[in-house]
Parts: sequence; structure tokens; C-alpha cells
Amino acid sequence: MSSTLDIGAIRAQFPILRQTVHGRRLAYLDNAATTQKPEAVLQAIDRYYRTSNANVHRAVHELAGRATTQYEAARDRIGAFVKVAREQVVFTRGTTEAINLVARSYLQPRLQPGDEVLLTGMEHHSNIVPWQLVGAKTVAAPVLDDGSLDLDAWKQRLSARTKLVAVAQISNTLGTINPIADIVAAAHARGVPVLVDGAQGIAHLRTDLTALDIDFYAFSSHKLYGPTGFGALVAKREHLEAMPPWHGGGDMIRTVAFEGSTWNDVPYKFEAGTPDIAGAIGCAAAIDWLDALDVERVAAHEHALLEYATEQLSRIPGLRLIGTAPHKAGILSFVMNGPHPQDIGSILDMEGVAIRTGHHCTMPLMQRFGVPATARASLAVYNDRDDIDQLVAALQKVRRLFA
Ligand SMILES: *Cc1c(COP(=O)(O)O)cnc(C)c1O
Repeated sequence: MSSTLDIGAIRAQFPILRQTVHGRRLAYLDNAATTQKPEAVLQAIDRYYRTSNANVHRAVHELAGRATTQYEAARDRIGAFVKVAREQVVFTRGTTEAINLVARSYLQPRLQPGDEVLLTGMEHHSNIVPWQLVGAKTVAAPVLDDGSLDLDAWKQRLSARTKLVAVAQISNTLGTINPIADIVAAAHARGVPVLVDGAQGIAHLRTDLTALDIDFYAFSSHKLYGPTGFGALVAKREHLEAMPPWHGGGDMIRTVAFEGSTWNDVPYKFEAGTPDIAGAIGCAAAIDWLDALDVERVAAHEHALLEYATEQLSRIPGLRLIGTAPHKAGILSFVMNGPHPQDIGSILDMEGVAIRTGHHCTMPLMQRFGVPATARASLAVYNDRDDIDQLVAALQKVRRLFA
């Protein structure tokens, strides 16, 4: 299946990957932090600014019409990609802002003292702190030793006090793919809505939000081969209708008077001020690009590479992989006897290998595994065996330096 993707041809569409870093071929393995952008996305953004730049929704002139058409076409494109109607797509600055919007506008007005948000122990800080900021109690289900969610323990924590369930589709630290369908079924059986943090899932799993019956879904364009600073909250229409606006300003209103104002329809009532127009257009171009490759074929390629990398890393003495769930995506977190993850990252950088080191915005998970930090290599469609071989050779060098 994966053999049908020509990875060499795909790599060639990413100009940034052609460079050398510290005199070495660049092996970019920090895709869980952000992905690189293909020529098609760079061109879409460039073309927009060169030919169509104007503010949206306001003027009647030609450029404003073009900008508005392209901007709103992005809403159709995103809706079609995750299988929902365009009105369900609220543009945000990314996953973090989307979750904050749900916390402020959905949860806070409904919150009673003692109400809980049920999380997992592998959530990103973006899916922990917004709930705490509005006064909810955050309860986390435990993570098993292999990095899987303890689903039975999760179910035991689902109670009459649970106001919302929030869970990562894929853990950015462990690569674990969570059982979203089971979680939604159990939560809905108790009348509890579910937010899925799709920051890692969107580019690696085919996601049908309607079939999965997900209430809220948050994602970022920049982890999907699109530009930074853009993303969306995708939600059931009934929730959006019931939620008050959260940011006030232009575009989100129907009428404004000093006695009081009225709100625009969904999704516009959540989109105050001039939006990231080029961001929306770039994100739609990224989705076009990824869809043409087929997310499932991309996932198969990444999975084959994950298996290869897991086997190679397992052979390095003193290296411990953290996150070996049976159902996982292309993320490899590890620690080594001797060097701190920071040292690993610095030495790898000198070898042209870009990985991430640190807590990956998942401090509770670091505590769970008893490590202050990990080194993390994360895969995207343009990665190949040469990247993994370069990573492994660099790790052998680390080992020699710390022997
Ligand atoms: C990256 C990430 C986020 C935050 O995304 P932003 O683009 O920084 O808003 C949230 N959750 C997970 C799982 C992530 O990987």
C-alpha cells in the first residue's frame, strides 16, 4: 500500500528540506511540533497576497469579492475534509484557541461547583489549563505502562459530576491513538459531550466527525502542512447555537447600538475582527494537497517507517522508548542512560537531525513516567529511511560520547 506513494517526489515538493544544516543533510523529525509546507501551500499564500489581498466580508470591490470567496471556500474545504457542514467550522488561531473557546463559551456558563472535566493522563497543556482557568476540576484517567489509555479506569471516572470529556486523538508525546469511538459511546450514554483534541490526529488519521458523533474537535493548520496561526473549532451546530460569543468586535455582530448589540449567525458570531485570511487559504491548499495523496496511504507509509524506526532504536543499548502502545502513530519518545535529552538534541542537531526535547507540553505525563523530559522524533509523509538511518547514526555518536 505504502509503496504507491513516491516519497522522493513528495520530498521534492518541500523546498526547506533541500538545505544542509551544520553541513549535513537535514533530517527533519520534529513534525509533532510543526510540519514543513509544500510548494502548493507556499504558492497559494503567495498568490493570494499578489492577486487577491483585501479585507473579507465588507467591501463590494473586486478584490474584496475574491478574498471573501477564497476565504469562505476554505471553510467548505475544511468541512468536507472532516465530514461536517460549513457552518460547523469556526476559524481560530489553532487548537489552543479552539479549546479555550469551548472552555469560555460552552463550559463556563454551565459550570456548577464541583463539576469535572474528564481528561486522560496524556493530555497536552492546551487540553488541561483552559478547563482549569474557567474553574472546572480536571480529573485524569491513568495511562498504562505501554502508553495506552486505561479505558476501564477512564470509565470508572466518568460520573454524574462529569460535565465534559476531553481527549487527544493522538498523544503528541507517546504517539498513542486513543479509542475515540469507545470514549464517545460511553460519554454519550451518560449525556456527556466530548471534545477531541485533533492537533496530532488531523494529518495522520482519516477523521469523519459526523460518523464519530464528536461534539467538539480542535485542530491546527501548522501540523497539517499548512501555515501557523490558523486552525479551527469544528462543533455540532446545536452547541454553537447555544454558546454565547466570546470575543467582541467587527464581523461577529448583526446590529450594534449603545443600548445593546445582537450577534451574527454561527460560525461568524465567534469570529471577531479581521481574520487570518491567508492562513485559511493556505490551510485549504494543505488539505487539497494531503487529500490528493490520501490520508490513509500517508498513514500506512508513516506506520511502516515507525516500525522500522522502532526496530532500529530498540537495538541501541541504554535507549528506552516511552510509548509502545499497540495502536500508535509515528512518534518516538525516548530517554538514554547517561545523556540528558537536551544533550541528545544538541548533538543530533550538529548531525543535521532535528528532533524535539523537553516535556512536550505534557508535564503530568513526564511525572507518570518518572522522567523530566524525553527526546522525541516524530514522522511526516516526507520522511524516509534515510532520515531514520541518519537519526540512528547520530544516536550511536551520542552513545560513544557518553560511554
Ligand atoms: C500542538 C498540540 C496542541 C496545541 O496546538 P497549537 O497549534 O499550539 O495551538 C494541542 N494538543 C496537542 C495534542 C498538540 O500536539
